[in-house]
Amino acid sequence: MAKNIMDGKEWTAAEFAVLLPQDQDLARPELACVSCDGPAVFRAGPKRRPSFAAQHQHGCQLIAPAWSAFTYLAGQGWAPGLKTNHE
Ligand SMILES: [Zn+2]
Repeated sequence: MAKNIMDGKEWTAAEFAVLLPQDQDLARPELACVSCDGPAVFRAGPKRRPSFAAQHQHGCQLIAPAWSAFTYLAGQGWAPGLKTNHE
């Protein structure tokens, strides 16, 4: 999950992936980690599931284990439930 630092909206990778290309391009520079505000990037391609990657700050609650779980769960269609896990 990532958030748009301009409007605060939180996105799952699956949600972001279905945006129009021009909307994705507009939002890309504004993406950040929902926990630490570290800059995030959206990644997707023909052979990979959509996902976010971020340069996390020290002490971020979403570092490695949780973020990996998120990308795994996103592929299972469970991503929206994670919104309550990182408040
Ligand atoms: Zn982070």
